[in-house]
Amino acid sequence: MKKRRLISLAILFALLYIGVNCQASTKEKDMITIVLDPGHGGKDFGAVENGAKEKEINLAVAKKLRRLIEKGLKGKVDVVMTRTTDVYLTLQQRADIANDADGDLFMSIHVNSVDKKSPGRQTVKGSSVYVLGLHKDQDNMKVAMRENSVIELESDYKEKYSGFDPSKDESYIIFEMAQKRNLGESIRVASDAQNALVNRAGRANRGVRQAGFWVLWATSMPAVLVELDFICNPQSVKYMTSEEGEDELAESLFISIKKFVERRN
Ligand SMILES: [Zn+2]
Repeated sequence: MKKRRLISLAILFALLYIGVNCQASTKEKDMITIVLDPGHGGKDFGAVENGAKEKEINLAVAKKLRRLIEKGLKGKVDVVMTRTTDVYLTLQQRADIANDADGDLFMSIHVNSVDKKSPGRQTVKGSSVYVLGLHKDQDNMKVAMRENSVIELESDYKEKYSGFDPSKDESYIIFEMAQKRNLGESIRVASDAQNALVNRAGRANRGVRQAGFWVLWATSMPAVLVELDFICNPQSVKYMTSEEGEDELAESLFISIKKFVERRN
């Protein structure tokens, strides 16, 4: 009798174990993985101006966005952050995190700036969302060059990035043929994010653009890079560093992610 009870118990535990495992694997399969990449961090400050650091704005908005996703898309989405604290990560490490997580969408969050000698740099304003491609004008090229220049913080970047030199025009030719497979979906997410940044966060519309961002090239999934607004414009900085501004920017990006998830379901 005792033996039979033991056997029954063993069978019960075995069934429970199988049940839990099956549930876990189906759940994992159904979940959509969104990778949020707050640009810069640690010794890489990004753009710094008007008392603000780009790395801090990027992280604050990304964290709020993560909370919105975890609340609003509970049970449907896993959020992976490339960083949650003020740490330095290379562009390659960011791409590795996204690829290792088998991400379905990669969203890199940044703040824009223009050269110190540009006239009107205190009044230039607005959001733009980038997808990978060959830039159509010098302005887009400059944004990509500035964001890619963090590669130069790595002493051996020439070997690590297969000869890619972020400051040389000719390096950018590799992006002309790149990421064709995910371009359609990337553009859809970029358009939704751009529209929401204008309509929900009241940002000036600088449109969806294309340029050669190394981190977008290295991620094997639909991928966008958001430039929230300009750090060289004091008005924009005031907005981006306010609680209300951070909330609205995060909500705007959430709208585009929600639509992406709806298309997948
Ligand atoms: Zn940046």
